Amino acid sequence: MTELTESVIKQASELTRQLLASDRIKHGIPPIFAEDYMPLVGVKNIVKVDLGDLSALLLPGKDGYSIKLNINHHPLRQNFSCAHEIAHLLLDKALYESMPHTAEFRSAKELDNKLKERLCERVAAELLMPESLFSGYLEQCGVSVNSIQRLAHIFYTSIPATARRIAELSQEPCIALYWKLVKRPRWKQMKPCLIWSSDSQYDIPKFISVSPNSSIFQAFQADSIMKKFESFSLGNIGRPFYIESEGFGQKPQRYIISLVFPQRKRT
Ligand SMILES: [Zn+2]
Repeated sequence: MTELTESVIKQASELTRQLLASDRIKHGIPPIFAEDYMPLVGVKNIVKVDLGDLSALLLPGKDGYSIKLNINHHPLRQNFSCAHEIAHLLLDKALYESMPHTAEFRSAKELDNKLKERLCERVAAELLMPESLFSGYLEQCGVSVNSIQRLAHIFYTSIPATARRIAELSQEPCIALYWKLVKRPRWKQMKPCLIWSSDSQYDIPKFISVSPNSSIFQAFQADSIMKKFESFSLGNIGRPFYIESEGFGQKPQRYIISLVFPQRKRT
C-alpha cells in the first residue's frame, strides 16, 4: 500500500509541476482549481447537477472522462470533490498500468474502499495545495492555528482540509484534530468530541471526549485562539503537550480545529 500511495502522490506532484509551469496558473500564484487539471488528465467536461447525497461522479466516455459535481454544494467543496475524482483517476491508472504484475497490485485491487478514499483525499490535497507551493506559504505564515484561515483563503480550500495539510507538511511533528460539541445521554453537559485526527503515529482513539474545562471547550465558546499545555489523555502523546485550538463557524455547525505539537517542550 505504501508503494502504491507513494506512486500516486508522485504522479499528482508531477501533474502539479506541469500545471505550475504552464500559463494556466499565472505566475504560479494560488489558488489552483481542480478544473485546471482537465487537459492534463483527459477529463473532457465537468458538469454541475443535482446529485442528491453524492458529492461527485467520475464517468468514462468515448473521448475522455467527465466529472459530475453536486451543484447544491458550496463551490469550495465542489472544487475539492473534483480534485478527489481526479485522484480516483490517477489511482486507477496506477493500479492498472504501472504495477500489473506485482503482489501489491493484486492486494491493491481488493483495496478496502476506506483506504482508497483516504488516499484520494491525500492526493486531492496535493493537487489543490501542492507541497512545492504550499510549503513556502506555510513557512511565511508559520505553523500555527493562526495561519489556517489565511492559507485556506489563499488556496481556496476548506478550513479542515487546510489544517490537515499544515500538519502534513509541517517540519515540526504536528497533528491536526477536528472536534465537535456532542451531548450524550449520561453527560450533564455537552463536551468536545474528537471526530477525526491526522495522526498515524500516536494511536489517538476516535470519538474521545474532553472536559468542558479544557482549552478545546474554551475555543468553542470564545472567538479567541487558545494556546497552552494540556494534560488530558491523547493516545500515546507524552503529557503535558502543547496544543493550539480555534473555533470556526457558527452554531450548530461550529467546530474546533486543534494543532498538537507532541515534541514541543515547555521553556
Ligand atoms: Zn472517492
